[in-house]
Amino acid sequence: MPKNKEEKKIHLLVVEDEESFIDALEIGLDREGFKVTIARNGQEALDKFEEGKFDAILLDLMLPKVSGLDVCRTIRAKSDIPIIIVSAKSEEVDMVLMLEIGADDYVTKPYRLRELVARIRAVLRRRETYTPSEEPSTEIMEFGPILLDIDSRRCYVSGEEIKLRKKEFALLRNLLENPGRVMTREVLIDRVWGDDYVGDTKTLDVHIKRLRTLIEFDPKNPIHITTIRGVGYRFELTKPE
Ligand code: CA
Repeated sequence: MPKNKEEKKIHLLVVEDEESFIDALEIGLDREGFKVTIARNGQEALDKFEEGKFDAILLDLMLPKVSGLDVCRTIRAKSDIPIIIVSAKSEEVDMVLMLEIGADDYVTKPYRLRELVARIRAVLRRRETYTPSEEPSTEIMEFGPILLDIDSRRCYVSGEEIKLRKKEFALLRNLLENPGRVMTREVLIDRVWGDDYVGDTKTLDVHIKRLRTLIEFDPKNPIHITTIRGVGYRFELTKPE
């Protein structure tokens, strides 16, 4: 599965207007083996996107000229390139909106380079494994201690089988299929329950809670399924390669 990526560098378009961030990103991402092109405002981002060939975009929200949101909308209208939004903590950001306009993920400043790199690799990996033409069927999904056998509908944690109910299995599968990605409540409910969702809004949370008791070492301090307040849940990549 993991291909030799040493030959071709992943090319990132980094859209950022703060010089201190630009310096740190250029150095840090270069050290991580990425090829980096910088755009210092929204218009430059759109221009460079047209000129170059990129594998992913790191997009600051607060930008001169054209805002990050508009850059995201414009690029998403013509390309499915992975886009990671970067926002400052002080900005009131509607994360649901960001996901709706096509961002793949987001990080909040200040972030650690390691976290950022893990998120970039995660969105790229998702694109790599995404095959829209066929249903992912014969599959074993494995993340850390958690293993999901899609065909036989079995779930193992550290080698031990745990019994999941149908909806719990579907929920875990949906989260595992999108590692590192925020799954909004709406999307999860739609994919797992569809029109069957008759409970109140707590039904999803109840299922998440039970999943945590089954797969988390410490269900009260989950490290696999984390809550993104007001938005949804995310299956964390605990050990980014
Ligand atoms: Ca900015």
